[in-house]
Amino acid sequence: MKFELPPLPYAKDALAPHLGPETLEYHYEKHHRGYLQKLEKLLAGKPLAERTLIEIVRESDGAVFDNAAQVWNHTFYWNSMTPKGGGTPGGVVRSAIESAFGSFDRFRKQFVESAVGVFGTGWTWLVQERDGRIAIRATEDADTPLQDATVTPLLTCDVWEHAYYLDYRHERPRYVETFLDRLANWAFVAENLEPARAKRSA
Ligand code: FE
Repeated sequence: MKFELPPLPYAKDALAPHLGPETLEYHYEKHHRGYLQKLEKLLAGKPLAERTLIEIVRESDGAVFDNAAQVWNHTFYWNSMTPKGGGTPGGVVRSAIESAFGSFDRFRKQFVESAVGVFGTGWTWLVQERDGRIAIRATEDADTPLQDATVTPLLTCDVWEHAYYLDYRHERPRYVETFLDRLANWAFVAENLEPARAKRSA
């Protein structure tokens, strides 16, 4: 196996002032790359090393799972943000969110509550459930909706302190609000969403 980190989809200063270059430098080069390096060490010479990253996430546990899931989760997180992102989405994303939550504002409130409610380390996700419905899920530590093959991840916000501490210190609510208001990549959500399934559940 030779997994590689995909390059960041933007420059390290592109999300400033919402997430500064120092945050991206440490988060991508030290944390994200660190998970990859640990995974490579753990899998060296093992048959599991020949599988895809997603298969490893679904078929492993313990330290292999933790590091494989964190590699996948972080790549998904980088794609969940974009410079000049955030705010209210349009098109299919907006209608899927409105049909699931009643309004975008209600979704925003619930997403922030979910992210703030994760005790310690974890992630908050927007997912498309098996029945096509859009939902919010919180996971702890390295856990990921990817473990359930019937669920489609759409967007994620990393709420480990390393994601926001340099820019927001202890203020996780302000980080999550800024993530939704200024950074969320709704075009990425639209790519991941299966509108035909969303429509059936509406
Ligand atoms: Fe992280």
